Amino acid sequence: MLGSVPSRAVSVATRLRPFGTTVFSRMTQLAVEHQAINLSQGFPDFEGPAFIREAAAQAMAEGHNQYARSAGVTELAKAVAGHQKRHYDIDLNPMTQVGVFCGATEAMMAATLGLLEPGDEVLTFEPHYDAYPAAAAMAGARLRFVTLRHPDFALDVEALARAIGPKTRALLLNTPHNPTGKVFAREELDALAGLAKKHDLMVLSDEVYEHLWFEAPHVPIATLPGMFERTVTMSSFGKTFSFTGWKVGWASGPESLMSALCSAHQFITFCSATPLQHAAARALDELGENFYRDFRAAYAERRAHLLTTLRAVGLKAPDPQGAYFALADIRAVTEKDDVEFCAELTERVGVAAIPPSAFYSLDKKEGAHLCRFAFCKTMDTLNAARSKLWAGLPRVDP
Ligand code: PMP
Ligand code: GLN
Repeated sequence: MLGSVPSRAVSVATRLRPFGTTVFSRMTQLAVEHQAINLSQGFPDFEGPAFIREAAAQAMAEGHNQYARSAGVTELAKAVAGHQKRHYDIDLNPMTQVGVFCGATEAMMAATLGLLEPGDEVLTFEPHYDAYPAAAAMAGARLRFVTLRHPDFALDVEALARAIGPKTRALLLNTPHNPTGKVFAREELDALAGLAKKHDLMVLSDEVYEHLWFEAPHVPIATLPGMFERTVTMSSFGKTFSFTGWKVGWASGPESLMSALCSAHQFITFCSATPLQHAAARALDELGENFYRDFRAAYAERRAHLLTTLRAVGLKAPDPQGAYFALADIRAVTEKDDVEFCAELTERVGVAAIPPSAFYSLDKKEGAHLCRFAFCKTMDTLNAARSKLWAGLPRVDP
């Protein structure tokens, strides 16, 4: 009986207490309970390319079933290096400058655990992906935030410069950005790079949506002059190839930084699933520019469909420039805050979405009038969501 165990034995460690259960688990659970269309957690409800699944089955049948090389199977490390060269003209030594992880989530955790000392500060933006504060906290480090403000989420370079202090060791960047859909512009990246160089900061760059941009292409900050040496670039097989449940991700950068990530990774998970790494290598090696173009075109169609749905019921959302989320302003529709609105939308209307205050740490009220909808869903799902939203919320004049 838990009740008879001294409370110290069953309590969550102090450093994890602020985080509770993630908003993604909570909202997906609520969606399941109410049989709502789930536009909350960002996972595709369709399959990635069939040949990739077959490649994983083949890798298993061929006996690739034991622990892999800790930093990643050689084929995948080489495929990641090839991808970075083809897409961004970045030259990497696959054996020393690439690491494979259990998703970008583990890569980020390996970065904070491998690179930061307790008490170090990392500067990032809010809204932010929910795993970042926890990754910093588990390393004993502290995240500090600069708020990107609705509706354009422009970078306030002066606020960022002011936030840099003697303990700041790194900037944590996410572009294309979850949940705003912002793709950092070249000038913004130049400003960030300038500050990183001036203050001798590392950059941890989460680029899991690198192939999901609609207008201006994504630019990895590592490609800016003088930035490769100080940047860890992270990406995710799950996002680009629609296999989020495989949890395969990678990071690349100079050996000095990658050796720290790989050192931590040895003791967090040691390696990610071997046959899945073989399949990921084939995806990177065999899918050419057509795949990436079609990927973006399919998402552009889903984006347009969802935005039409939302705007017809007064949920004003700017066109996201990247990633697969639309961030709508709920003020024309409700007086409730985002948490109450998302609960009601799930329970009464039958469409689940994410309350974005979960992505704010400093200024939670900035997220209280917003609502995040994921469009990594089939057109059938998006049509079903449209029917429910149009039936459940009053239509407004365009
Ligand atoms: N970073 C961002 C910005 C994300 O949206 C996500 C969600 N998939 C991740 C990291 C996690 O990626 P992975 O599933 O590869 O761990
Ligand atoms: N990245 C996904 C999202 O933003 C969620 C991933 C997760 O559930 N941890 O919706």
